[in-house]
Amino acid sequence: MSLLVNLCHLLERELVLRGELPSDELDLETLDDLIQVDGPVRYELEVQKLDQSLLICGDLRVKLACQCARCLKSFQRMLELPGWTCHLPLAGEERVIVANDCVDLTPYIREDILLELPQHPLCKPECRGLQQKLTSTKKQNSGRRATGSSHWAELDKLKL
Ligand SMILES: [Zn+2]
Repeated sequence: MSLLVNLCHLLERELVLRGELPSDELDLETLDDLIQVDGPVRYELEVQKLDQSLLICGDLRVKLACQCARCLKSFQRMLELPGWTCHLPLAGEERVIVANDCVDLTPYIREDILLELPQHPLCKPECRGLQQKLTSTKKQNSGRRATGSSHWAELDKLKL
């Protein structure tokens, strides 16, 4: 189920496309380990036929499941491409493939979503990473050692 635009529907007026593209369809799996696409891509697009080309503009939204690059916390983020535009020539060397009067928008949406993915997702901009966690584990360890030594102390007491 790709996102197809039927050119015959465009002859007289512009077309509005609204719906969801399953993320498997977009083949967005080969990503950074820290980012997964979590759900379909929602689109609301207007398609216009110009002289020798198609002009598509509208909004794309998709939910991402991310892992913070600093503290490894999981969090969700909405990726939005408001005012996304795509200009597809129907003639010339760069022309798009038309099959059964249809043009498939899926590859263009895929490409632009991949470009917009965050490079180093952070749970919050001021995330300080694992530093705090490390100190707290250190404290726990020394705490354990302390209880250990008090056990020895109690044993000592018993011996006495
Ligand atoms: Zn973080």
